[in-house]
Amino acid sequence: MTREHTRRRGRLVVLVGPSAVGKSTVVARLRELVPDLWFSVSATTRDPRPGEVDGHDYHFVSREKFDSMIENGELLEWADIHGGLQRSGTPAAPVREALESGSPVLLEVDLVGCRNVVTAMPEATTVFLAPPSWETLVERLTGRGTESQEVIDRRLETARSEMAAREEFQHVVVNDDVDAAAEQLVNLLVGPPLEEQAQAETSQEN
Ligand code: 5GP
Repeated sequence: MTREHTRRRGRLVVLVGPSAVGKSTVVARLRELVPDLWFSVSATTRDPRPGEVDGHDYHFVSREKFDSMIENGELLEWADIHGGLQRSGTPAAPVREALESGSPVLLEVDLVGCRNVVTAMPEATTVFLAPPSWETLVERLTGRGTESQEVIDRRLETARSEMAAREEFQHVVVNDDVDAAAEQLVNLLVGPPLEEQAQAETSQEN
């Protein structure tokens, strides 16, 4: 039988993690390990940061454009981020097309977005990227030295509620080693069937 006949839908993994947990480093490693990984480019109403490229890091859109995307059902999910300071969301069509073509897909969203993806696509695998400890996260968040105290406080507040919700996730990956964390994600995206992995996890716990 040819690959055409056996081609399956790609797996969808939704990754959530507090600010400064090291998500972008883990994702960069993951992209090296899984070259055909399809990574969703979100739409956002916030301004680009220095170095960010429209269409690559985000689709930077106006609030009006974003709201028309919601109205037209173009977003798989969306959320108000950091207390409504910005809105970000996942364009639906490219995700569905990538999954249908057999590519593994990674979405990186906030907690609200993750819950909405699961409602829209219950087959999604949810992963929480956790810091080794709360203290490490606070250190990383305050140590970057690039943000004002107000921004840091808001991120800590968001991080606190995200950490409190980690039990909701199917998998928690602790980022104490970038390679090990990326390997766990590789397994979920393209490793053995997920039912087998769930069984292995259960027997390890017992
Ligand atoms: P930043 O503005 O720093 O890039 O991201 C801030 C937060 O927005 C992060 O928690 C990130 O996961 C979340 N985020 C980025 N894109 C999306 C999206 O498409 N949907 C949702 N719900 N959250 C997103």
